[in-house]
Amino acid sequence: LMPSPKRSELHVIHIAAEMAPVAKVGGLGDVVTGLGKALQKRGHLVEIVLPKYDCMQYELIRDLKALDAVVESYFDGQLFKNKIWTGTVEGLPVYFIEPHHPGNFFWRGQFYGEPDDFKRFSFFSRAALELLLQAGKKPDIIHCHDWQTAFVAPLYWDLYAPKGLNSARICFTCHNFEYQGTAPASELASCGLDVHHLNRPDRMQDNSAYDKVNPIKGAIVFSNIVTTVSPTYAQEVRTVEGGRGLHATLNFHAKKFVGILNGIDTDAWNPASDTLLKVQYTAFDTEGKAENKEALRRKLSLYSANVRQPLIGCITRLVPQKGVHLIRHALYRTLELGGQFVLLGSSPVSHIQREFEDIANQFQSHEHARLILKYDESLARLIYAASDMFIIPSIFEPCGLTQMLAMRYGSIPIVRETGGLNDSVFDVDNYTIPEQFRNGFTFLTANEQGFNNALERAFSLYKNNSELWQQLVQKVMNIDFSWDSSAILYEELYEKSVARARAANHA
Ligand code: ADP
Repeated sequence: LMPSPKRSELHVIHIAAEMAPVAKVGGLGDVVTGLGKALQKRGHLVEIVLPKYDCMQYELIRDLKALDAVVESYFDGQLFKNKIWTGTVEGLPVYFIEPHHPGNFFWRGQFYGEPDDFKRFSFFSRAALELLLQAGKKPDIIHCHDWQTAFVAPLYWDLYAPKGLNSARICFTCHNFEYQGTAPASELASCGLDVHHLNRPDRMQDNSAYDKVNPIKGAIVFSNIVTTVSPTYAQEVRTVEGGRGLHATLNFHAKKFVGILNGIDTDAWNPASDTLLKVQYTAFDTEGKAENKEALRRKLSLYSANVRQPLIGCITRLVPQKGVHLIRHALYRTLELGGQFVLLGSSPVSHIQREFEDIANQFQSHEHARLILKYDESLARLIYAASDMFIIPSIFEPCGLTQMLAMRYGSIPIVRETGGLNDSVFDVDNYTIPEQFRNGFTFLTANEQGFNNALERAFSLYKNNSELWQQLVQKVMNIDFSWDSSAILYEELYEKSVARARAANHA
């Protein structure tokens, strides 16, 4: 009899452009840390490789120190030295790469948005693999993320596996298919990849331009596992309408492609211990929500004689993806229905920012509406805690975190049925879904009528059945949105892939 194989621990190395909280732009940073911590807790060895940005939050890195060894990596026909730093972030071991390249790649005062991003991150992807090779690492999984480190997949198989860094399977996660990093094919040569070999329709060639390469496509083709951040989004991107030109590639590689819903950091976001709230509260005793509502009203100079007047919250980047026209409409409709409306948002798109600044000015001394156009995490926390309802009318939403954060703080989500919203919010009036899962209000059609229907049903329940509403608040606060269950799904994918590789090697 063969002994049954021991469930062994895995060595997982993430190569990423972001890691919360030291270098965070969006959800990607949260995933690297949240997934990393959850897998570490399950006994796996997790390490992270990041660029050493000048603009990181250095005070949040423990024991940062430079290693004696220098790693030389190839770029544009030459070798460049990289200084390697180590440190600990949120309990996870991190390698930081500081290139000594005259381009000062990570010395720009911002993470992304530089004209030479393709160069910066293809350089980083190669330097990260060089570090793993020279350090003699034998990871089971190398996990790369988004287009910035998508280069890792072709680099690994074409250059590094032949050099002996060959223990790993490659997992690639795309956090938003809107950003693909497409560039003229010739630029690929800088990091040592073979343009002639890769600029082909079945490899890295962009599906709509024969002289361009698409890093996301390359990672889909060359990774063993491809994931995105929710099951519904994984379906949507396989359609012509949702695929941003990659649907055919994803369908061709469908066997290795899955969607796994992100978790949230339930320690960092916990109304029972959140010191930035006026009062802490729990699902067992939600009294504190009313006090936080009063506190928010005072802070924003909103008037209300009635603590039960419903307060609607919205916290978002104001970009077309988020359904800005429906957010604006929600403000007016909420006021017509007798509610209060608070928007916290900021926009990288100047005409949207201007439009909302105009609206904010119109409402600056209104008794029932306030728009705050900046990024402010402590105000965000108070809004999650103070609001009764929370709107997310996104046009598309790969995963979305705000619906989960809102529920954790007892605010009932009103969302469009798309992407991760469709996998985490289930309409209280949808009798085809088991009662235990129903937790909010949803609509499908991305227009005012669609949104109104959901908002009006929410108002009606709130006004006419406060007992049922209260039960709903307690129910959503008790849902487990932690990383634990999602991490198990990643673990299963990793394990299956590693087992397949071992079986193939022994065949
Ligand atoms: P995306 O990554 O597309 O912006 P997510 O829902 O995945 O959307 O994540 C948004 C995160 O950013 C949430 O944690 C939310 O609280 C936060 N956030 C967005 N806008 C603001 C803001 N203006 N101030 C504070 N936090 C914000």
